[in-house]
Amino acid sequence: MQISEQKVVTMNYEVVDSQGQLIDRSEEGGPLAYIHGTGQLIPGLETALEGRGKGDKVAVDVAPEQGYGKRDEEGVQTVTRNQFDDSVEIKVDMQFEAQDDDEGHQIVTVVAVDGENITLDTNHPLAGKALHFEVEILEVRDASAEELSHGHVHGPGGHDH
Ligand code: ZN
Repeated sequence: MQISEQKVVTMNYEVVDSQGQLIDRSEEGGPLAYIHGTGQLIPGLETALEGRGKGDKVAVDVAPEQGYGKRDEEGVQTVTRNQFDDSVEIKVDMQFEAQDDDEGHQIVTVVAVDGENITLDTNHPLAGKALHFEVEILEVRDASAEELSHGHVHGPGGHDH
């Protein structure tokens, strides 16, 4: 069975940046499962997996435009400390999820702390980065009607309910 829309794909993956620095790999959390064609993966990776099958090993270079997007310098903003809960100690490189107007949540990174002023970067941490993926496809199957209606995979690598 080949990967196409509405197939559930289970895979191991490893992703490094252009310097070969490891960013993420699936092994710790077990294989990743997703429904193909639903935008759960970044576009460059999803496109590269189209038509592949079980047992295939795929190496993919993904440019920022096909990955997490380019960096937007307007996404760097300075706010004052009183916008944060007093109990939270704000440090450089801290990351947290903030509510976003359209997409639900986004990762925000603290890039500078200067007295009462805190500089935040709302760009995705991987924005502007060229990524290299090594993927091993473990399984390809049809998504169930229930999975399609929920928009996510059930069972190993997916939701357990
Ligand atoms: Zn579900």
